[in-house]
Amino acid sequence: MAEPEAEVAVIGLGAWGSAALWRLAKRGIRPIGIERFGRGHALGSSHGGSRMFRVTCLEHSGLVPLARRSCELWRELERDAGEPLLTQSGGLLIGSPRGQIVGGTLAAAAEHGIETETLTAPALRARFPQHDRLGPDDIGVWEPSAGIVRPEAAIRGALRAAEAAGARIFTDTRVTGLEPDATGVWIHTPVRSLRVTRVVVAAGSWLSSLVPVPGLRVVRMPVTWFRPADESVSYALPDFPVFMREIAEGTVLWGCGAESGYDVKLGLEQFDGTAVPLDPEDSDRSVREADWAKLSEVLPGHLPGLAPAPARVAVCMLTLSPDGQFVLGALPEAPNIVVASGDNAHGFKHATGIGEVLADLATGGQPRLDVSFTDVKRFR
Ligand SMILES: Cc1cc2nc3c(=O)[nH]c(=O)nc-3n(C[C@H](O)[C@H](O)[C@H](O)COP(=O)(O)OP(=O)(O)OC[C@H]3O[C@@H](n4cnc5c(N)ncnc54)[C@H](O)[C@@H]3O)c2cc1C
Repeated sequence: MAEPEAEVAVIGLGAWGSAALWRLAKRGIRPIGIERFGRGHALGSSHGGSRMFRVTCLEHSGLVPLARRSCELWRELERDAGEPLLTQSGGLLIGSPRGQIVGGTLAAAAEHGIETETLTAPALRARFPQHDRLGPDDIGVWEPSAGIVRPEAAIRGALRAAEAAGARIFTDTRVTGLEPDATGVWIHTPVRSLRVTRVVVAAGSWLSSLVPVPGLRVVRMPVTWFRPADESVSYALPDFPVFMREIAEGTVLWGCGAESGYDVKLGLEQFDGTAVPLDPEDSDRSVREADWAKLSEVLPGHLPGLAPAPARVAVCMLTLSPDGQFVLGALPEAPNIVVASGDNAHGFKHATGIGEVLADLATGGQPRLDVSFTDVKRFR
């Protein structure tokens, strides 16, 4: 049997894979990273200039400790990468207290003792006049620790820091197959095959093409940038911080103010099963009118200060799991393969914490945080 070339290889160097490579390299084990495209590319789930960071994780109580740990690790990565990645300029959750966004946020804040401030509708309007036409029940929850993370810079920074700590990185190299056995895993690429002891497959929306994980669905997620219709109100990030606003039951308008050369970023999420499926192998990510038409329609009724036609649109992919939680862990039938996918549109803020979990799992340890609710075995 050939000697392994490394103890661990990470396949897929997007948000989670680049962070896993960085955490592994910092343990001194000289991991190998393999990425199908370039560093911080725009074909997966991790492009578009910003992602919301918040500690009030309404998606699952177990995510709050992960967000707190991720915050510490974002600061460590900033030091290693030598550039700012996380801006905690505060964030706003808007809707009825009985709705999932504000209700879930208040519950998470109460359970975990997270500092928040509740704003009545008039207080919200006075402080953030951009948010107009609030519903009769609407309130705001201000979370000072929320903010934005910069995805492309974070991925490139993690890869630079991983290399500085001893990782070897191969970009533009597609993994075409994995062959696990009792003592390791063969990784096949069109160029050559290599053997390692354990593999982390952080292939995001492409995971199912390498390992079978039942129930994952890949859908199209447009991201849209808008410009103010008049200049009398500022839409710069400090004045128009990152927000999620439940505009109807199950419909969430989200976005953040202009910064770093980007216009005002907005998106619309509907939890009604109408998401459009996307084949990750279809490289056509060109924009269609349907990508932004609904958002343009709702804008005048909620953010009337913005011109309703977008200045720019890009298409990302989301990977949805049946219960809305991440999918992490060693495959029961191939314990040397650790998988990571199922971002469910809330995984970027946790990328550094997930990288640490993956590094724990890939070196045979137990994750230091309880992430059992994400275990891949729940779908087996
Ligand atoms: C529009 C949008 C908005 C979002 N907003 C937020 C937000 O505000 N806050 C938040 O926390 N999260 C948010 N998310 C979720 C977050 O972006 C994802 O959780 C995160 O990007 C997932 O990263 P990933 O590493 O799983 O996938 P990716 O970053 O897509 O990485 C997967 C990588 O695997 C590589 N790969 C695939 N197959 C192979 C192969 N065979 N060989 C080699 N390499 C391979 C791909 O090229 C890719 O680089 C949002 C997602 C979207 C789409």
